Amino acid sequence: MDLLLIVFLFGFLFPFGSESAFVPPPEVCPSCFHTPTVNQSIDFGMLIQRWPASLFQPKQTRDISHLLRFVNTNLKHGEKITVGPNGARRSSHGQAQVPGGIVVDMMSLQSTQFKINPSKRYIDVNAGALWVDVLKETLKHGLTPRSWTDYLYLTVGGTLSVGGISGQSFRYGPQIMNVLQLDVITGKGDMMTCSDKHNSELFHGVLGGLGQFGIITRARIILEVAPKKTKWVKIQYDDFKIFTKDQELLIAMAEPDYVEGYLTGGAQISYTIEFALYYNEDDPIQKMLDVVMSRLSSTKIDTSDVTYFDFLNRVGREELDLRKQGLWDVPHPWLNLLVPKSQIYNFNHLILQMVAKSPVTGALLIYPVYTNKWNNKMSMMLPKGNNTVVYVVSILRSVGKNCTIGSSCLKNVLGLNQDIIDKSVEGKGSMGVKEYLAYSTGKDSTWIAHFGTKWKKFKSIKHKYDPLHILSPGPGIFNSF
Ligand SMILES: Cc1cc2nc3c(=O)[nH]c(=O)nc-3n(C[C@H](O)[C@H](O)[C@H](O)COP(=O)(O)OP(=O)(O)OC[C@H]3O[C@@H](n4cnc5c(N)ncnc54)[C@H](O)[C@@H]3O)c2cc1C
Repeated sequence: MDLLLIVFLFGFLFPFGSESAFVPPPEVCPSCFHTPTVNQSIDFGMLIQRWPASLFQPKQTRDISHLLRFVNTNLKHGEKITVGPNGARRSSHGQAQVPGGIVVDMMSLQSTQFKINPSKRYIDVNAGALWVDVLKETLKHGLTPRSWTDYLYLTVGGTLSVGGISGQSFRYGPQIMNVLQLDVITGKGDMMTCSDKHNSELFHGVLGGLGQFGIITRARIILEVAPKKTKWVKIQYDDFKIFTKDQELLIAMAEPDYVEGYLTGGAQISYTIEFALYYNEDDPIQKMLDVVMSRLSSTKIDTSDVTYFDFLNRVGREELDLRKQGLWDVPHPWLNLLVPKSQIYNFNHLILQMVAKSPVTGALLIYPVYTNKWNNKMSMMLPKGNNTVVYVVSILRSVGKNCTIGSSCLKNVLGLNQDIIDKSVEGKGSMGVKEYLAYSTGKDSTWIAHFGTKWKKFKSIKHKYDPLHILSPGPGIFNSF
């Protein structure tokens, strides 16, 4: 970017009076600024488009600190400039967007991505690293992280800022529970290292904190010995009660390493439990499977044996197929919810009503997790109350390419989602459901209800680490558009 453009950009971003277009000091890394492209204005969801004013591609972590310090010290009272980290931009409701502000591209950081400590069983990774690359790196040492998302082409910072839930969470908790230490650059530009013991308020706040308090630059992830293979099992059910009963039996057993489930069909509904047993060549895997199956009610079973890597990368392979068919780069009006076990039958009725109106093209996941695998000090929210088990329900629709922003077909689907939210989500409906990967509807009350008793604390941590509300405007928590 040439100097004239920088002068223009900063004159535009920081209008310090009509005669004083501002040139950034050299320590902010002028060559890190670029003109944004359409990629920074839209995400995987393709539901909201908002353009930033600038794209910042740091060469080293301290460039981010300099940027934030610069923005803090140069903001005149009442002026507004926002800065937001972007990972892989796989959000679906504009959570990573920075309207009119500066996008920090975390994937562009050039410093070393990985530093593994095999004897202490952890790896230090750049927050902009993709989980698939973390897996490839750790497997070289026969090790692996324990807790995953279904899809691995997401960044470490991107999933740690939301939670990171999958079929392993019933045993190891979400990804945020599998982190030993973080490096964070706060909204004020301070570079801080934090953990459960050291700067713990920042550590807990940032994990599931939707990018509100700081930008994660490094995470220390817990590892375990990696298995070689996976017995991947699918069992079919017609009855929702038996399906959920068997899912809960599975998460209480010692053998399964992964448990999920999904609903398929429109007029004719069926449910499938998907579970996995990890193993090595000499393990008596068939015996283990027989033991597990002997405790379950359904015998409609389908099994396959795949490598551990291929199992974890299953959605990555689906992506390739969908891309070939032109079905990946389409709008994704997704809705992710956490439903208390006590409400799961009522909630299933809501789903059935919705599916009867409009069958889901995509996936509709339903699976239980234990709430005691979460740390309530962290920012991520679970449904309130004494629920030992909550169900993850993900309604992952794809719609046609022509269902663009503002089209009636997209509005119809978003309307179906809103109907479910209105009937079930705490603060609106009566089921005490919590939204996961929540997004703003433009009302402060949405977030106050979302954070419930944690809202006061959330606000006070924001005040401490990002008092000028510079960071991560995308979810619309402290910034309205
Ligand atoms: C195909 C697919 C499958 C998925 N499966 C799962 C799943 O199984 N389980 C699950 O839990 N989620 C799943 N997700 C959702 C995904 O985990 C979240 O959307 C996640 O935030 C995306 O990560 P990202 O790197 O794309 O982040 P982005 O979309 O770029 O950013 C997401 C948010 O994180 C913030 N952020 C990004 N980097 C940082 C950082 N370094 N420090 C602080 N804040 C940061 C951003 O500001 C933004 O608010 C899936 C998404 C897709 C597209």
